[in-house]
Amino acid sequence: MPEELNPFKEAQQQLDEAAEIMNLDREAHALLKEPRRTIMTNIPVKMRDGHTEVFQGFRVQYNDARGPAKGGIRFHPQETLDTVKALAAWMTWKCSLANIPFGGGKGGVICDTKKMNEAELEALSRAYIRSIAQFIGSEKDVPAPDVYTNPQIMAWMLDEYATIKGHNEFAMITGKPVDLWGSEGRVDSTALGGMFVMREAAKRMKINLKRATIAVQGFGNAGKYAYELSKELFGSNVVAISDSQGGVYDPEGLDLDKLEKAKKATGSVDSYEGKNSRKVSNDELLKLDVDILIPAAIENQVRGDNADKIEAKLLLELANGPVTPDATRILFERGVVDMPDFLVNSGGVIGSYFEWQQNVSGYYWDTERFHSELDRFITKSFRDTMDMQKDYASKGKKIPERMAAYVIAVDRVARAMKARGWY
Ligand code: GLU
Repeated sequence: MPEELNPFKEAQQQLDEAAEIMNLDREAHALLKEPRRTIMTNIPVKMRDGHTEVFQGFRVQYNDARGPAKGGIRFHPQETLDTVKALAAWMTWKCSLANIPFGGGKGGVICDTKKMNEAELEALSRAYIRSIAQFIGSEKDVPAPDVYTNPQIMAWMLDEYATIKGHNEFAMITGKPVDLWGSEGRVDSTALGGMFVMREAAKRMKINLKRATIAVQGFGNAGKYAYELSKELFGSNVVAISDSQGGVYDPEGLDLDKLEKAKKATGSVDSYEGKNSRKVSNDELLKLDVDILIPAAIENQVRGDNADKIEAKLLLELANGPVTPDATRILFERGVVDMPDFLVNSGGVIGSYFEWQQNVSGYYWDTERFHSELDRFITKSFRDTMDMQKDYASKGKKIPERMAAYVIAVDRVARAMKARGWY
């Protein structure tokens, strides 16, 4: 990965910018610039042809001043330690901004799940958990799904952990299947949280969501549900969607059944055929003339070299790290409202918090309560962020939405570290 696209360097750069804006103590800044603990593991897995494949795995516990480390596990062929560190830092800010009692962490394994069968995937999931078991737990570090991991993988991990410990500990991992005390609302809570932010932002910007056109990049845990929910909740017209292979654009809108069929038949939504549809690359999708753009795939999509071509008025970062720091600056100067990742996609971890909390207490909610609490939490984060931005503006300092959110998140973590006597 080129140096300038190293996500951890970007996360550090964002922190530096926030530190300057808020005049952060030097010691707190130093503590927050690197993870507290980094675990690297070498994981042997017997593959179907009998040979042993050795996978590289990571778990980064970025900060636990406000509670156990919390964050997903990503299975990705291009995973790097620096990507995991960046994601773990962003988890720290995400949990803090949402004001839930967790720190930040993230895990990953370098692997290509598309080339593995189910037995191999199960073996890898169990082996990964064995390799980090002594460092995790419901009060220490609580993993969850991320890119290319899902509730089934969480279930295998829970089971392996229970075998090691000799007892069940349901709160050690979130995003579990409902049959293992996961929450019904958790599967689409990342996207639903994003929809609540979209609703609030649209209200302020006077965008009529019923008439709005939307482009979504990504067709996974976040993107697919964002597509469905924006149609279902607001009747918006989603005109473009993509996956890692490419995408499709149809000004008349897209049909979910047909999208799923196309994906199943060829492995990509780009084979979708509608009356007025045409294929678009992932980069073209970002530049489409739409009202709202939702990058919901991976990091580094809107960059210095394409940020000036974004036509959308509102950008909702449902992925982690889709907009680079130089792009944030360009968008801000151009007046594009860019809702930051650790606000927009915090519905996932807020949902995880509800699940964890129910596992700890043993008292279970219905989905209605899950959804209304999610709305309450994320709408509060949105308002806090907007208020902070307004506060700075009234003091003559205009800052991007991302920096307003950073100021709130970093300040809370710094206060917790100070109270503990870490500095
Ligand atoms: N992987 C999700 C995220 O990046 C969820 C993390 C969690 O629920 O712990 O926010």
